[in-house]
This record gives sequence, structure tokens and C-alpha cells, in this order.
Amino acid sequence: MIKVNDNFCKLPASYLFSEVAKRIEAFRRQNPGTEIIRMGIGDVTSPICAAAVRAMKQAADDQSRKETFHGYGPEQGYEFLRAKIAEYDYKARGIDIAVDEIFISDGAKSDTGNIGDILSHGCKIAVTDPVYPVYVDTNVMAGRAGSYDGNRWSNIEYLPCTAENGFIPPMPVDNPDVIYLCYPNNPTGTTLSRDILAQWVDYARSHNALILFDSAYEAYIRHEDIPHSIYEIPGAKEVAIEFRSYSKTAGFTGLRCGYTVVPKQLHGVDANGHSVSLNALWNRRQCTKFNGASYIIQRAAEALYTDEGRREVKETIDYYMRNAAVLRAGVRAAGLDVYGGEDAPYIWIKTPDGVSSWEFFDILLKECNVAGTPGSGFGPAGEGYFRLTAFGRYEDTMKAVERLKRFNVK
Ligand code: PLP
Repeated sequence: MIKVNDNFCKLPASYLFSEVAKRIEAFRRQNPGTEIIRMGIGDVTSPICAAAVRAMKQAADDQSRKETFHGYGPEQGYEFLRAKIAEYDYKARGIDIAVDEIFISDGAKSDTGNIGDILSHGCKIAVTDPVYPVYVDTNVMAGRAGSYDGNRWSNIEYLPCTAENGFIPPMPVDNPDVIYLCYPNNPTGTTLSRDILAQWVDYARSHNALILFDSAYEAYIRHEDIPHSIYEIPGAKEVAIEFRSYSKTAGFTGLRCGYTVVPKQLHGVDANGHSVSLNALWNRRQCTKFNGASYIIQRAAEALYTDEGRREVKETIDYYMRNAAVLRAGVRAAGLDVYGGEDAPYIWIKTPDGVSSWEFFDILLKECNVAGTPGSGFGPAGEGYFRLTAFGRYEDTMKAVERLKRFNVK
């Protein structure tokens, strides 16, 4: 029999969304005809904007003609898209990122999951808690996480983010080599100010740590003082890799496109103590294991940087952020403490005292016929919290808020 990677066997069954689906199904069977509003899954609902659709049609036509056909593209992505990213996502914010520091991919899940390929198996990991589960699970798969006690992995340092600390992660105490930061945050919908992010960059510089900065929700930032990129902080290029995605920015969840920035100043060290460029390693990793994102999809992403594309993207984000504002107000009016949702599409609710995340799920489903996601599914510090998303239709969001008036913890 073939021997398998035992690390995969250590992973607990992915319980959260299957349990959510199971409970919704059971409720539906007991209450036929009741309309349930689903505000749990983090997928978007608005269609792809016209500028990107037109670009895809044009790119499909390109593929039909010998003169404009594109086969394998550069593993790092097409220059036409990388140049737009350097100009609009970085230079426009006063950040110098070279085209060869940008790697186009099929999304941030792949990149945040795959980045561990270029890091030592001995690296110690820290994550904010609650957390996007991909960071933890991919380190389990790589054998870095240690053993699981049903709540935590022994080799991962958890940095709890709760209402008590204003959702600002405490500095690590175990000297991690790699720190995952995701801001605006999934699931809490909270952000880090420039000053706090600067403290993290300082920490990484003084402790030789690498920050993996996931800014998949950057486009949702409204407040001027919240950094959109970690490279807005001086010195960050020597300590941070940044991940971005068009999924939530432009509804590309089904099209698949994102990118990762690996600055050339960023260096690690090999077993012999020699300095190694992380940009060169990631380039090597991508060239070996990835054959580039689709030409058609990269043309669609390029179109997002046109005047029309930028206007349309903004309209959709404004639409979701209106949902977020409506949800925040509605949840607060129901007498609950609410966080996030001001610079992010996620609303993070504190459950009433003594009510667990799953109990809250059941109460909300029963009383309001609204389904969300229990915070405990994102990590131990998520217990006692609950996530709603602003990615639904406005009408459904309004209806959900109307139903929240029935909310009553018995
Ligand atoms: N990073 C975070 C924090 C996310 O919440 C998500 C998706 O939910 C992703 C990355 C994945 O993005 P993509 O669709 O680009 O793979």
C-alpha cells in the first residue's frame, strides 16, 4: 500500500461549513416553506463588471485567431497586468514595486497556501486568532503545526484578537519565524491602524521574522488612516510578502485571479547560513509548479484598472458596504455589540453573555431565519462571536435586519 502524507491525516474534518449546512437543512425540513437568508458563506453575489466582461470577450476572440492566439503565458503573469498593478495599486500610493516583484496567480488561497513551499519546515508560525483557516491547515499539511488538542496546534502561536484588546493582536512571545496578518480581517472585519502596523514591521525587523500580509479585502478600506498595503510602512519590504486577490475586489471568485508581491530586498537564510532571495525562490517555485493564470482572466483583471473598470468596481464595493452599514445598525438596534463592517465586508457580533457561537447560530436561525457563521469555527478566540457577511443582495440584507427585530435570547 502507498504511504500517505501523515500530516494530512492529522487535520480534523473541515467541520464548520458542513455543520452549518447540516443545521440549516435540519431546520428547513422541520419548517418547510420558511425562507432562510444565508449570510454565512463568504462568496460574492454581484456579477462581473462590464469592463472586465468586454475584455474577456475580446480576449476570447484573440484566442480564435492565429495572429493573436496566446498559449502558455509567463509563469509570473503577463507584463500588461503586472505593470498596471505596479502603477495603480502601488505607485499611486507612493510605493515603488517593480514588475518583477509581482507574481500573478489564480488567487490568494493558492498563494497563501503555497508560500510555505519556500520556507523551512522548522519555521515557527504565529497566527491571529480567529483566523482564515487556510494559514493553519496548510502549515499542518507541511508538518509545522505539531499536535492538535481539539482546540489548538502545539507548534502554532495563537494571538487572540477579541473585544478586550480591540481586536489588535498582542505581540508574540514565542519568537515565531513567520507571522500571518490579514487586514482588513476575515473573519472579524477589523483593521490595523498605520501606527500598529508599523509596530508589527518593527517587531519583524528586530526579531528576523517574516510577515505574510493578506490584504484580500484592501478594496473595502474607507478610512484614510488605514494602510492599504503593508509596504506603506517604511522598512516593510525587507520583512513582508503581500497577497492580493480580485475575488472580493471585483467578484472574481469564479474567474480566479490574484497576485503576490515578493520584494527583492527580502532575504532568508539557508542551512549553511547563506543569504537567499525569497523573490528568486518564489519565482523558482512558480516556474516549477504553476503555468500561469489564464490569458483571458488576466485581460479581465487588466480592464479593472481602466477608468470604467475602476468606477464599476467602486460601485459594487459601495453596494456591499451599504449592506455592511445596514447590518451594523440592525445588529446594534437588536441590542448586540457589533465590530468590523466599516472597512471590511464582515460584521463580527459578540454573542450575549453565556451564549456560545453555535447556540447563537441556532437562536438566529430559529427566531430570525437568518444563517451566519459561528466565530468558534475560526479559532479558539472566535468563541462567543458570530460572523455575518455583507456580500448578499441589498433586499435580503434589509429583510434580515427587519427580522433581527424579532431577536430574543431566551
Ligand atoms: N484570504 C482571505 C483572508 C480570504 O478570506 C479569502 C477568501 O475568502 C482568500 C484569501 C481567498 O481568496 P481567493 O479567492 O483569491 O483565493
